[in-house]
Amino acid sequence: MEVIQSFTIDHTCLKPGIYVSRIDKGFTTFALRITEPNRETAVAPAAMHSLEHLMATWFRNSSAKDDVVYVGPMGCMTGMYVIMTGQYTVEDMRSLTISCLEWVLTQTEVPATTPQTCGNCLLHDLPMCHWESRRYLDRLRNDFHCEYTPLKVSLPDGKIFADA
Ligand SMILES: [Zn+2]
Repeated sequence: MEVIQSFTIDHTCLKPGIYVSRIDKGFTTFALRITEPNRETAVAPAAMHSLEHLMATWFRNSSAKDDVVYVGPMGCMTGMYVIMTGQYTVEDMRSLTISCLEWVLTQTEVPATTPQTCGNCLLHDLPMCHWESRRYLDRLRNDFHCEYTPLKVSLPDGKIFADA
């Protein structure tokens, strides 16, 4: 098995921000890193789930809606992936995400939280979603990071282990 591209990033010095995770087949996968991996508490599942509903709703109604392919959380619960077609830079995604989070903070309910519209409709936490959104918004405005540090550690078989 080949080591996948996202496992070649050094997560020990990864800061909250927005990174280009990969570009392939005309799609750009943006990693919206919300917390510092392994050093801060990851986003709680219920808060992340609410953020996913809200961010997906915003992105799919935004000026960029025709280019939005996917919005969904990272398995490690430290961030969100947004996959786009077209030409978007991290600065483009930064301003889109800032507008998105400003909107999230005005919302008083999470969309689509009925058993008919969500696979786990009890797993939502809007107050904690707002807490995470407020902190991430502040970081995007005032302490923005977008440069990956490649992982220097090689595995015994010579492979390099690199996101998740
Ligand atoms: Zn859901």
